[in-house]
Amino acid sequence: MAPKLLSSTNFKSLFDSVDTFLFDCDGVIWKGDTLIDGVSQTLDLLRSKGKNIVFVTNNSMKSRRQYAEKFQSLGLTSVTQDEIFSSSFAAAMYLKTNNFPKDKKVYVIGGEGILEELQLAGFTGLGGPEDGEKKAQWKSNCLFEHDKTVGAVVVGLDPNINYYKLQYGTLCVRENPGCLFIATNRDAVGHMTDLQEWPVFVLCIFLGAGCMVAAMCGSTEREPIVVGKPATFMMDYLIQKFGTETSRMCMVGDRLDTDVLFGQNAGCKTLLVLSGCTSESNLLDESNKIEPDYYTSMVSDITKMM
Ligand code: PLP
Ligand code: CA
Repeated sequence: MAPKLLSSTNFKSLFDSVDTFLFDCDGVIWKGDTLIDGVSQTLDLLRSKGKNIVFVTNNSMKSRRQYAEKFQSLGLTSVTQDEIFSSSFAAAMYLKTNNFPKDKKVYVIGGEGILEELQLAGFTGLGGPEDGEKKAQWKSNCLFEHDKTVGAVVVGLDPNINYYKLQYGTLCVRENPGCLFIATNRDAVGHMTDLQEWPVFVLCIFLGAGCMVAAMCGSTEREPIVVGKPATFMMDYLIQKFGTETSRMCMVGDRLDTDVLFGQNAGCKTLLVLSGCTSESNLLDESNKIEPDYYTSMVSDITKMM
């Protein structure tokens, strides 16, 4: 069915049929480091009406603790760490729920957020951002050894990606068929927006984790286990944790191939907001096959409909 523009009338039936609102973050709650107008009032209103609120972000650069700090710094003081689900946390929870042995190590191509979540879950992480320093060493010593106790490689966005890290991760995966290859997410690109500092005409997109994951797919000849949206792992985890029926959840996001698909895959209602990377013409273009139940310009529209 074609997506419906959210109105006071159809919002009432959506609102009554939903207990939990899942919010994507970038493009919905904030743009980069800038809070989107009216978000704070919208969250307060939903809470006052007894709705559960959960945040689900594919951005693996921060841990939940760091995201909680970001929410606080943006003035969203009611948000607690327990309500935040990032793909960095999902990677650690995937290992935990699959009983990944504590005596094995996890090699990380990605940011500090992943290393922190692994540590909090009791796992030993190697690699991460500072592994870029080893690039020079690699140039002078092609025959380096990799740690044979690595039992999983986690790949997320890594702005300091280099040949050394890919070589290390590849050796771990290729030389041990039992080594897990986990991707936090496969977002192709992120979108700079008018609220961010970068002038749009200089740079309007930035690379997502997808190209780093693709590089590892190429060298390992393996496909990763993806834990971020639109894969089902985070949703399965949320269902287990909150015991909520997915038919009584609404996924609110700005992206069709991650957020809306994530909601649809799980049987949630879906609401696309146009405050991020998808325009109304992208949505209604006949080439688009991913259709949310509803769409509206931004989350604060909800406050005018209640
Ligand atoms: N990955 C990275 C590295 C990002 O910077 C972003 C957005 O800023 C995302 C993924 C997408 O995040 P979200 O799922 O909150 O839109
Ligand atoms: Ca988003």
